[in-house]
Amino acid sequence: MNNAIEITNLNKTYKASGKAGEKIALRDINLTIPKGSIFGLLGPNGAGKSTLINIMAGLVMKSSGSVKIWDRDIDTDPQGAKAAIGIVPQEINYDPFFSPRRLLDIQAGMYGVPADERHSMDLLKLVGLADKADAYTRSLSGGMKRRLLLAKALVHMPPILVLDEPTAGVDVELRQMLWERVKMLNERGMTILLTTHYLEEAEELCDKIAIINHGQIIVNEDKRALIGRLDHKEIKFLLDRDAVSVPAGMEGLAATLDDSRTLRVRYSPKEIAAGQLIDIIQKSGYGIADISTEESRLEDVFLQLTRA
Ligand code: ADP
Ligand code: MG
Repeated sequence: MNNAIEITNLNKTYKASGKAGEKIALRDINLTIPKGSIFGLLGPNGAGKSTLINIMAGLVMKSSGSVKIWDRDIDTDPQGAKAAIGIVPQEINYDPFFSPRRLLDIQAGMYGVPADERHSMDLLKLVGLADKADAYTRSLSGGMKRRLLLAKALVHMPPILVLDEPTAGVDVELRQMLWERVKMLNERGMTILLTTHYLEEAEELCDKIAIINHGQIIVNEDKRALIGRLDHKEIKFLLDRDAVSVPAGMEGLAATLDDSRTLRVRYSPKEIAAGQLIDIIQKSGYGIADISTEESRLEDVFLQLTRA
């Protein structure tokens, strides 16, 4: 088994409640998450990310399809599946009266971790909360509460860690800290699945990315390949003398002058090579003092794909 998670033909329809009609949240999802990866599930609000991971975690009932966590089917072995996954939920949800240490002990107990194998203090150290071990949880800042949720997800040392929008609304410092911890856990062998609507986050952290929109997976591939799908590139030439218009021969291309010496060209590498652009410029009598290119941004791919 090379996959940490295997999802086949998964559907979810939320039943009508009150005035709202039925809501199809997931449509025929097929997804495999390789062991050892940091997998990003990227999508706009309402796309179905939380629904998908809450089904994996046994918190939401699926309508049809099959889900295997660490080779354990959530229908036939729900306990086994649950034991293989630790989840950091999107919402902060725990009893504010327990201290962080007590909270982790209780959580470990719920997962059947024997008292002498609990490591609540180590986990608190891991997330930088050792000095708050015996504080009132309700007195913690928002950022500390989020870190505590990460520790809570790890009490049973699951092989898979799932984080639902871990950095939505957190400050830059905490975001960096969470990213660091996630990378470290992954280096130690943990498979990570995170949902996000921040492209930057998926780009920075993940080696594989799936994009979900309106309950459907529309892309699922390596980050590099995904960025490569963007067929437009932008290149900037610094000319050796002032120009009043774009060089002759570039009229048909998306070429503009940022200023009299900076020529910006958007082009499709399939249609024209960068070398040809250089030829055109030189033939029209300009020298090139410098060249810079803009990397394809995941954001552009995302916008292209979710525009519909
Ligand atoms: P995301 O996490 O990507 O923002 P969600 O999985 O939370 O998306 O929601 C997907 C869709 O399902 C949304 O249209 C949302 O309104 C709907 N939805 C989520 N939870 C429920 C629920 N308990 N009852 C009815 N509809 C829901
Ligand atoms: Mg969500």
